[in-house]
Amino acid sequence: MKVLVTGGTGYIGSHTVIELQQAGYEVIIIDNLSNSNIEVLDGIHKITGQYPIFEKFDICNSQDCNNFFSKYKGITAVIHFAAYKAVGESVEKPLMYYYNNLVSLLNLLDKILSHNINYLVYSSSCTVYGQPESLPVAENAPVQEAKSPYGNTKQISEEIIKDTIHANKKISCISLRYFNPIGAHPNGFIGELPIGEPNNLVPYITQTAYGIREYLRVFGNNYNTHDGTCIRDYIDVVDLSKAHIAALQRMLVHKNINNFEVFNLGAGKGYSVMEVVQCFEKVTGIRLKYKILNRRPGDIERVYADPQKANARLNWKATTSLDNSLLSAWNWEKYYRKKLNC
Ligand code: NAD
Ligand code: UDP
Repeated sequence: MKVLVTGGTGYIGSHTVIELQQAGYEVIIIDNLSNSNIEVLDGIHKITGQYPIFEKFDICNSQDCNNFFSKYKGITAVIHFAAYKAVGESVEKPLMYYYNNLVSLLNLLDKILSHNINYLVYSSSCTVYGQPESLPVAENAPVQEAKSPYGNTKQISEEIIKDTIHANKKISCISLRYFNPIGAHPNGFIGELPIGEPNNLVPYITQTAYGIREYLRVFGNNYNTHDGTCIRDYIDVVDLSKAHIAALQRMLVHKNINNFEVFNLGAGKGYSVMEVVQCFEKVTGIRLKYKILNRRPGDIERVYADPQKANARLNWKATTSLDNSLLSAWNWEKYYRKKLNC
């Protein structure tokens, strides 16, 4: 069965490609490499022994999409990762974010309809919940006004998909709301490749440990949490990737056509920034330099998932410990830096 993975050379996409190949799917990737590197394909090959089909173009280009879908017939399902994802950048360049994240989705949906593809898995985010009133946050918690253009593109995208399904009875979609993906493949050949200074906590930690950053900036220690730092639900990227296969199989097996479902993908446990730092120090034996800075604008105090719906209906559960996720992230950082210096 052929599955199209947009953004398949990116962080979560590449790990999902591996799970798809290992589950026996034939994978076709579209990626314009705006935030990833073609060498990821070699990493995938090293792990699975297979190169996925790869086409490089921008999904915002409708003609390129037409050419692609004329070339590749018989695609059964699409997993749509391709998007820009940096919250801060989206505040500075909102039009770039609205254009890329929404035009790519509109183009893709148009082709999905005209080529009778019925199954879509969409990458959404827990940002849609903002600061939830009660925790853990379940799927029926209200969606809050987005705090950034990036977050807004995720909310608008879910609405666009819902309306499209409403008007086209054959299509179904599962929207997966990720919490905080971290870690790398345990085989060490693929992982997160932030371009420039990382925005996210774990790549900042591993780059600091490697000596690329002078110190970790801890954004605020005066939150109303047990140690004053923010709490998040860190979900291992391999666990997260497996949920995409479960989502796909749910749609294929149950044939729940004309359905839009949402699932929270988190481990269901919150860790503070300082707990993550301490866990990293424990598993690596490295003493991490850090400084407490002011709060980062837009950060919410705490969020963690109620993953029970995904546990029950997708028959999926996050199983990787924070220790192992941080270790895989660290192994990937070392492997990648050594490779760069070769
Ligand atoms: P990533 O940047 O590593 O991967 C996205 C990939 O899409 C990149 O390889 C990029 O080159 C490609 N891309 C972007 N726009 C494109 C376009 N117009 N045409 C073709 N290719 C394009 O990001 P990721 O962390 O793997 O995230 C994947 C998805 O998950 C995104 O939709 C993101 O918003 C969502 N998400 C990520 C996180 C996270 O923390 N990583 C959290 C919640 C949701
Ligand atoms: N964080 C930090 N220093 C960094 C990056 C992040 O202290 O260099 C904190 C951030 O303030 C938040 C948590 O780590 O409390 C997770 O941030 P990240 O950007 O990884 O994910 P977010 O939850 O914002 O999507």
